[in-house]
Amino acid sequence: MPDEDDYYAILGVGRGAGQDEIRAAYRDAAKKYHPDLNPGDKQAEEKFKKCAEAYEVLGDPEKRGLYDRYGKAGLRGAGVHDWARTDVHDIFSIFEDVFGFGDLFGGLGRGRRGPLRGAHLRAVVDLAMEEVLRGAAKSVRITRREPCTACGATGSASGRRERCTACGGHGRVQQGGGFFRIVTDCPRCRGAGTVIRDPCKECGGHRFVARARTIEVHVPPGVEEGQGIRVPGQGDAGEIGAPPGDLFVEVRVAQHALFERHGRELLCQVPVSFTQAALGADVQVPTLEGKETLSVARGTQSGDLYRLAGRGLPDLDGRGRGDLLVQVVVEIPKKLSRRQEELLREFAATEKKGVLPQRESFLEKLAHYLREGEDQGEGKKP
Ligand SMILES: [Zn+2]
Ligand SMILES: [Zn+2]
Repeated sequence: MPDEDDYYAILGVGRGAGQDEIRAAYRDAAKKYHPDLNPGDKQAEEKFKKCAEAYEVLGDPEKRGLYDRYGKAGLRGAGVHDWARTDVHDIFSIFEDVFGFGDLFGGLGRGRRGPLRGAHLRAVVDLAMEEVLRGAAKSVRITRREPCTACGATGSASGRRERCTACGGHGRVQQGGGFFRIVTDCPRCRGAGTVIRDPCKECGGHRFVARARTIEVHVPPGVEEGQGIRVPGQGDAGEIGAPPGDLFVEVRVAQHALFERHGRELLCQVPVSFTQAALGADVQVPTLEGKETLSVARGTQSGDLYRLAGRGLPDLDGRGRGDLLVQVVVEIPKKLSRRQEELLREFAATEKKGVLPQRESFLEKLAHYLREGEDQGEGKKP
């Protein structure tokens, strides 16, 4: 059992651990101790909260600095949560940036929602492949419902609401008579119990206005096409006292001119001359980060695949990176000089006749390489 106060021990990371490592460690721990996966297990819940407490401090460079220098005492007044009193489901909203990926955690991150909460909004961000490599800070433009600031969301220019005479301020009225009496929301004040005599000019008495906002969204490296990022609290405002909705940002990744994406692997084609393929050569190949030299072996066939390890796209958890598969395309010259033709004819005379080479099809090779990549990915341990 790690020391109650040693946040590093709780997350199982060293004191020099980087932010990515801390984040990954917390995510693993949160999954392991998640109350939905350990129903009725009080100890798991305790640990789940302890890990959240540790991550809140170590995951924030400023709080971590205070903790490193002064221990837990240094965090007084630093604005840390009261984890013992926090509902476990709310922890997911608090650390949205760690858990915010649609399918990664299935339904684990779902919090409870009240009926009056603001509506969720959707937006789309477009990413270039290079941005998938490094992650990106993107801004999205949305229009959302916000409380009217002119009237303090009262709907009244004077800020005053008066008692509704139709319901006497109860907000509910009885309809029908005799046996079938039903109680419903008052149609005049819509259940509020109060009405406005002097509607606010900004919101027309509706208490809310539509506002255009630019929201910053952090897109982590390795995101997939179509993946959703939840930005908590950036949707429509809720009714007074109820939380706002969330903003769901869908990621779209643009096709790249040179690279085809297969999960974490990238595939590109590189032309080589038939003499380079026959004799072997060093050729320049493009990567997402620039260029690299690839040694093409003597006797390389058109369609052969080379693997540049670690030149693909990163995994979402930041722990590894895929490979770049380079497919060699042998180019046959369309025109020959007289001298070249002479040499080729001479060469042809030395070839054996009637031998057709047998080759795996390109698709078979690709399938083989991709399988091999998966196996390696699973076997890799940090
Ligand atoms: Zn107003
Ligand atoms: Zn009323």
